[in-house]
Amino acid sequence: MDCLFCKIIEREIPAEIVFEDDEVLAFNDINPQAPTHIVIVPKQHIATLNDIEERDLALIGRLQYTAAALAAEKGFAEEGYRVVMNCNEQGGQTVYHIHMHLMGGRRFIWPAG
Ligand code: AMP
Ligand code: ZN
Repeated sequence: MDCLFCKIIEREIPAEIVFEDDEVLAFNDINPQAPTHIVIVPKQHIATLNDIEERDLALIGRLQYTAAALAAEKGFAEEGYRVVMNCNEQGGQTVYHIHMHLMGGRRFIWPAG
């Protein structure tokens, strides 16, 4: 499959992997927008948030659970952090394999840009 994140999952493209289990992979973003910026992806290819089905609900929860665990591990869980999932063109999605951005280590403004 011609998908960047599937290639990272398959180890065809290198990445700085920070967490892996049977269902999820997390790696440092190549263009970080915060002192810590981690991309968390399901190993299953799902193109956009619009393609989630009911059978995927536990997997989506696992992305969030992984984000919280990594925030704790990195030491910014208590001070706070930002989690983002972009969907389609207006949402700012550039890689069409769903992923959660975990960003921490600085203050974030709201509303997001
Ligand atoms: P999005 O714009 O929400 O689709 O996010 C895609 C993210 O993937 C961006 O933050 C990119 O910087 C990041 N990215 C693109 N290519 C790579 C790569 N080879 N390794 C790590 N992160 C990447
Ligand atoms: Zn993929």
